[in-house]
Amino acid sequence: MKVIYNIKVLLEHKNKMRKVKEKETAEEKFQETRDEVMREEVATEVGEIFPILKFDHVVKTYKGDAAALDDLDFEIKEGEFVTLVGHSGAGKSTLLKLIYAEEVATEGEVYFNGEPLSRIKKRKLPYHRRKIGMVFQDFKLLPKKTAFENVAYALEACGVHTNEIMEDVPQILDIVGLGDKMKKFPHQLSGGEQQRIVLARALIHKPMVIVADEPTGNLDPDSSAEIVELLLKVNKLGTTVILASHDRDIVDRASRRVIVLEKGKIICDDAKSKYRVC
Ligand code: ADP
Repeated sequence: MKVIYNIKVLLEHKNKMRKVKEKETAEEKFQETRDEVMREEVATEVGEIFPILKFDHVVKTYKGDAAALDDLDFEIKEGEFVTLVGHSGAGKSTLLKLIYAEEVATEGEVYFNGEPLSRIKKRKLPYHRRKIGMVFQDFKLLPKKTAFENVAYALEACGVHTNEIMEDVPQILDIVGLGDKMKKFPHQLSGGEQQRIVLARALIHKPMVIVADEPTGNLDPDSSAEIVELLLKVNKLGTTVILASHDRDIVDRASRRVIVLEKGKIICDDAKSKYRVC
């Protein structure tokens, strides 16, 4: 019987359990879990106060250069599917790096689930990053590991128990349509299938958000379309998706909210839109 696997429900449960384990002292454990529960309760009551992501007048300037992002002010709600488009150099990667806390805003603030990212302590960065599943154009799979092992590795690295790995990995691979190819090595799989492993690897931590940066850049049109369908499916299961792409077909296929960046500014932000660079 096919298991109906709701990523979001699992995500919430496991994130809470993991968070509890991660705290360093009993006092911290109690305090932070309580804060989190309170924040979630408030967020449920007044959803619009705590969007999953908020850019509050964000400016990002790299040393000596003009602003890569210039006064970005927008929100993404939990469960949204947003495509981010713009020419090369428009600031898409910089925006994604700010979400991942790989870069910090020069001015303004980026809030993730209500938390200001500029204030995250270095030692807590891995916990923040586990809430985000990253999917890049470049697959970066381990060539000598099977599909199963590539995904399992992401959990082993976090000290997850073998029983949990044996249970979760096949389910996730099933979701991405690779249930029957778990034992294949990357070189035995097509580009589209390899990208599915990457997506499975990103999903295995039950992230709150999937950030896909040109995920179809190296794929043929059919495989690209399949990846978009898969992202839509993941979104339907409750995960927020942010997809950066310059591929018109991909953006049109998703047919969701489109944010257009130009020279670091948002020049269009349309619900359910088609690709356009205004
Ligand atoms: P996109 O992803 O849309 O191509 P980027 O975010 O990579 O845009 O780049 C936006 C601007 O920031 C560009 O002018 C780019 O040259 C500059 N930039 C990006 N990364 C760096 C960096 N590490 N150091 C200096 N400038 C950078």
